[in-house]
Amino acid sequence: MNLILLGPPGAGKGTQSVLLEKRFAIPQISTGDMLRAAVTAATPMGVKAKGFMDAGDLVPDEVVVGIVRERLQQSDCVSGFILDGFPRTVPQADALDESLAQLKKKLVAVVSLQVDIDALVERLTGRRACMNCGKVYHLKFDPPAADGTCTACSGKLVQRDDDHEDTIRRRMDAYHQQTAPLEDYYRRTGLLLSIDGMASIENVQQAILSGLQAS
Ligand code: ADP
Ligand code: ADP
Ligand code: ZN
Repeated sequence: MNLILLGPPGAGKGTQSVLLEKRFAIPQISTGDMLRAAVTAATPMGVKAKGFMDAGDLVPDEVVVGIVRERLQQSDCVSGFILDGFPRTVPQADALDESLAQLKKKLVAVVSLQVDIDALVERLTGRRACMNCGKVYHLKFDPPAADGTCTACSGKLVQRDDDHEDTIRRRMDAYHQQTAPLEDYYRRTGLLLSIDGMASIENVQQAILSGLQAS
């Protein structure tokens, strides 16, 4: 089962992808996570991507397309994958179509999470991630058992550098200008599964599973 999770920053793409990954035993492919790993490791690609990410701008298409193309060829993708945060532009979606055709794979659905702007800002400002295992929490909506500490591995919880108000605004602009057109792109192919992302984490997951069954 090959899926895309689409939605603005903070919509719950990562949270829902992790749940789907467990349920269907297919990997979550998060371009944001892969880029952050490259930045931390200071690879040439990470060094190039850092400035864009710090500013809240999208990293150039050719960089991201290259990472995903390579990742989709790995053996754990044979029975499916969940793309989280890719594609984010029309050229990325075109490149993905090309890669999938080459690999003889087909998308089953593009899950598009709909969340109000006020809720997005509250979700992003309260988001915390484990420095050690990457697990994502929310101070109010999905808190860890002990303040500042990952429930899964006892790692330290930190706020992402780009989850501050000025960068959030810029990321929302990038979403509206460059990513929102993908809703129409996938609606035209009949793959768009529009989901109310305002409900609780569990209820959003349920709505996605029901939608996938019906599609
Ligand atoms: P994205 O990957 O789309 O940027 P995340 O999955 O990281 O979004 O979620 C953003 C923040 O909102 C996280 O702190 C997460 O715990 C929280 N969150 C995710 N889904 C919900 C939800 N349905 N209700 C409330 N908070 C949520
Ligand atoms: P969020 O969870 O808030 O949606 P991500 O972790 O997916 O954010 O992405 C963080 C940053 O990484 C983006 O602001 C952008 O700079 C970069 N990025 C991630 N995915 C892409 C992509 N598909 N195309 C271009 N830039 C990307
Ligand atoms: Zn952890």
